[in-house]
Amino acid sequence: MEREIAWKSYTKKTLGEVMSLAERYKDYLSAGKTERECVCEAVKLAEKNGYCCIYKAIEEGRPLNAGDRFYLNYMGKCIVLFIIGKQPFEKGMNIIGAHIDSPRLDIKQNPVYESDGLVYMDTHYYGGIKSFQWVALPLALHGVVVKKDGSTVTVNVGENDSDPVFCISDILPHLGQDQAKRSAADVIDGEALDIIVGHQPLKGEEKEAAIANVLKLITEKYGFEEEDLLSAELEVVPAGKARDLGFDRSMILGYGHDDRVCAYAQLEAMFSIKGTPEKTVCCILTDKEEIGSVGATGMRARYFENAIAELMHLNGEDGDLKLRRCLGNSSMLSCDVSAGFDPAYAGAFEKKNAAFLGKGVCFNKFTGSRGKGGSNDANAEFMARCRKIMDEGKVKFQTAELGKVNQGGGGTIAYICALYGMNVIDSGVAVLSMHAPWEVISKADLYESYKAYKEFALKA
Ligand code: MN
Ligand code: MN
Repeated sequence: MEREIAWKSYTKKTLGEVMSLAERYKDYLSAGKTERECVCEAVKLAEKNGYCCIYKAIEEGRPLNAGDRFYLNYMGKCIVLFIIGKQPFEKGMNIIGAHIDSPRLDIKQNPVYESDGLVYMDTHYYGGIKSFQWVALPLALHGVVVKKDGSTVTVNVGENDSDPVFCISDILPHLGQDQAKRSAADVIDGEALDIIVGHQPLKGEEKEAAIANVLKLITEKYGFEEEDLLSAELEVVPAGKARDLGFDRSMILGYGHDDRVCAYAQLEAMFSIKGTPEKTVCCILTDKEEIGSVGATGMRARYFENAIAELMHLNGEDGDLKLRRCLGNSSMLSCDVSAGFDPAYAGAFEKKNAAFLGKGVCFNKFTGSRGKGGSNDANAEFMARCRKIMDEGKVKFQTAELGKVNQGGGGTIAYICALYGMNVIDSGVAVLSMHAPWEVISKADLYESYKAYKEFALKA
């Protein structure tokens, strides 16, 4: 059961669409390097495409109309888009959901220290990373500092050509013999992932003069003090834009394809839907997936369910039973990336059941590890429906598992939404070097995923 390479089927016109979608995606990815930035960009796009803030409708108690478009921006870290359908909510919705947090290094609450003339900021990594991949490359600092008066300072340093960048040093090979003996997991200690942020001493200062200089510059430029870092969320990410990869420009090298590639494909799918769908369509971009979907903005929180309850109330569909029916009758694509088959590491995969770059959107019936542990194992009946929708919509798709049996594994948000009793299946883009500072995807898979999400949103 070989699946065809999507590229082979493209006409000149389709190729043009593939490439222009990739351009828009690269812009989104380069602008959205944190969950907050991804939400900001999504809000801009949503408003441009006729979506209104849901809180306004709730405040006014405005009755819903079929065809209405809303977005819910939750704490600036996750966003849900809705297109109200012709049928009542109780009949269920068609949901596409992805996550917009990506592995990175978070600045600690009390981060600044000086050591032998170099000033550092201490970090605590977020999500699953190989720490040795994060040394000796240019890093940028993105995030917010919230002051006691409630005002927010937005930080974005390292992306403009004129900006400084930061880095974590590594030992030179000449002196790296002890390091070379360590196992890959221990090459760089997690506590050693501290970024260098300065070294020029402030004139007239005796003790920690370089720190004094860095803090003075920060106060002058951004207007916050060291103490304000107690209430900050600063994320260290690879500096630089997403780029075309390969002479043929068929791929994209970028930070955070996991899972912003699916998130962006979902947004494009939403904006391409014209008129009024049968069922209400819902696009979730959630936070905290990389650390277990925890916290108020993770998929395990109730923000999504609460939003549905609010909308159903505005639609005259009150009551817990109706809400439960709505969720239970819904169908969902959990849109998350899959491990792309990598010829350089072929031994980690089982080739018949691996996702290949360029073979289209990848369905993972299950994820998990060690005997599907922790996975949402989608129903055969639902997979059959998805196959039908994909084939009728002429979407190139493939199916895969995450690597060989007992090789490892992973999870997504699928099992959380399945708790409501809805049908959920994972589907997304194959990625090389997943969770590395720079990940690789095929533009064809981005395009096929966009098509898949649109077909599902309208026809599930
Ligand atoms: Mn993911
Ligand atoms: Mn991930």
